[in-house]
Amino acid sequence: MVIDSLEFARRHEALSGRLQLSTLPRLVEVLFDTSGSLDFKVSGETAGGDAFLAVKLEGALPLICQRCLGALVFELSVNSRMMLVEPGSPWPDDGQTGGLEDEACDAIEASGNLDLAPLLEEEILLALPIAPRHEHCEPPAATTASKEASPFAKLARIKCN
Ligand SMILES: [Zn+2]
Repeated sequence: MVIDSLEFARRHEALSGRLQLSTLPRLVEVLFDTSGSLDFKVSGETAGGDAFLAVKLEGALPLICQRCLGALVFELSVNSRMMLVEPGSPWPDDGQTGGLEDEACDAIEASGNLDLAPLLEEEILLALPIAPRHEHCEPPAATTASKEASPFAKLARIKCN
């Protein structure tokens, strides 16, 4: 998944497919289960003299609930746009990138060998909740010893009677 980013954008090319979660090392660390995949689409765009990559990511990610440590399915939906900045060109100011102030738009350095996988992984990581939690769940019962003892206590009482 290596592209010549400026050529890709100027030709308005598009690349789509499936991204296996297990191939994304940094993402894998926060997943409950790495067997799934995500759909992605990267499209080249131009506006004025500027070149962009539009990134779409969709899929269900099994995250780990920070409270009960169980699986928590997060519906990922990313739509972002990155402005390609030619090496040596001035870096655009925030809000200036493409003149699209209400749209999240980052800038990345244009490269003849841009590997899309780490770029997509970064976009996924940015879209994840910081501390995912179920709406209703209980922390894992760490000290159930006293509760477990109670049936025996009852049993002991019955025997005594
Ligand atoms: Zn939970």
